[in-house]
Amino acid sequence: MSVIEKAKSQFLIDLENKYGAHNYHPLPVVLSRGEGVHVWDVDEKKYYDFLSAYSAVNQGHCHPKIVNAMVKQAQTLTLTSRAFYNDQLGPYEEYLTKYFGFDKVLPMNTGAEAVETALKLARKWAYEIKGIAEHEAKIIVCDGNFHGRTTTIISFSNDENARKNFGPYTEGFIKIPYNSIDALEKVLQSTTNIAGFLVEPIQGEAGVYTPDDDYMMLAKELCNKHKVLFIADEIQTGIARTGSLLAVCGNCSCEGHCERQASSYATPDILILGKALSGGAYPVSAVLANDSIMNVIKPGQHGSTFGGNPVAAAVAMAALKVVEEERLAQNARTLGKLFRSKLNEYIKTSSIASLVRGKGLLNAVVINDTEDSDTAWKICLALRDNGLLAKPTHGNIIRFAPPLVMNEEQLLDCVSIITNTLKQFEV
Ligand SMILES: *Cc1c(COP(=O)(O)O)cnc(C)c1O
Repeated sequence: MSVIEKAKSQFLIDLENKYGAHNYHPLPVVLSRGEGVHVWDVDEKKYYDFLSAYSAVNQGHCHPKIVNAMVKQAQTLTLTSRAFYNDQLGPYEEYLTKYFGFDKVLPMNTGAEAVETALKLARKWAYEIKGIAEHEAKIIVCDGNFHGRTTTIISFSNDENARKNFGPYTEGFIKIPYNSIDALEKVLQSTTNIAGFLVEPIQGEAGVYTPDDDYMMLAKELCNKHKVLFIADEIQTGIARTGSLLAVCGNCSCEGHCERQASSYATPDILILGKALSGGAYPVSAVLANDSIMNVIKPGQHGSTFGGNPVAAAVAMAALKVVEEERLAQNARTLGKLFRSKLNEYIKTSSIASLVRGKGLLNAVVINDTEDSDTAWKICLALRDNGLLAKPTHGNIIRFAPPLVMNEEQLLDCVSIITNTLKQFEV
């Protein structure tokens, strides 16, 4: 970087530092443009994006079909509120529910709002259908979860940084270890008044923890047996990211060929989507459920001014069509296997990287250093210098999640950037 170039990005970083709350710790790179798997910084340096805005940009940056749908709708009608009907919401709701195989959707904007919606829905169902006494409903969650940032959601987080000094906390949650069917069974047997089990099919923020192949299926069966709602938070894992349309169906035998709901997967009672539902163009989230659950919500009991707005509806429909037309689930599955096999080859002889794990194109490399060291951060800075953007997650773990529109040649190029960068850190 020349001195002048450095001055430009530093100026913009300083502005954020001075005028913005310090609630993030970004990697020092200032982006101004994106297309497909690439982003460019203010000095026109080109990078592979290996975060994809936490898997919101599965369809690639500025996908023309999604952008066109957004521009067209933005020029026509942006917001009516739900006080009136609009001509985009109904067709979108029909498309989305058929796409995922549910009776109904409740549209929201952000992921955290959708999780809140699912929690409220599960509680209301518990009181009005299951017959739990008022204020007694409990929801089971997992250690290491990440479901968003509202006061209720952080109430059941284990992340002290996310929780501390934000109390008092919302009650009614029981935490169990992730990926333990025994723990789930024990709590279901020993506790009454349980409304639902909220779980991520892969714990993304925690460091891409991938549970046993049968965990989702067995958890779903246990929930059925105990008349407890199985609530899947697929905000990060869903919409082709892990090599199937939903991560909960990742272990069926269809090899990712199901663009639509498969029969053999652990169908959630409540499905939560966000992020890639809009391809990263606009905040769009959704809660899906069948009538027996969704119909407990009556007018005035839940809502959002922007939820279900015409731009969101048009954008989300375009974004889902791209996933199907471009067979992104299949691509993620194939490239994911290639990525892990190449990384595993490297790791065999590496002292700095100890493990690669993940599914489809949601992967992480565990760095061989103590949790509180800044090695992963330093590696991410070096990756940036070498033209690839990634970010550490909790501990010394680097998540690698490129847009799913990547091709094999690009992926192999990225593998060499990653392994060459790691080599700089070998001792
Ligand atoms: C990102 C994320 C959320 C929160 O979504 P926001 O849009 O940031 O509110 C919730 N759950 C999971 C699994 C996520 O990855």
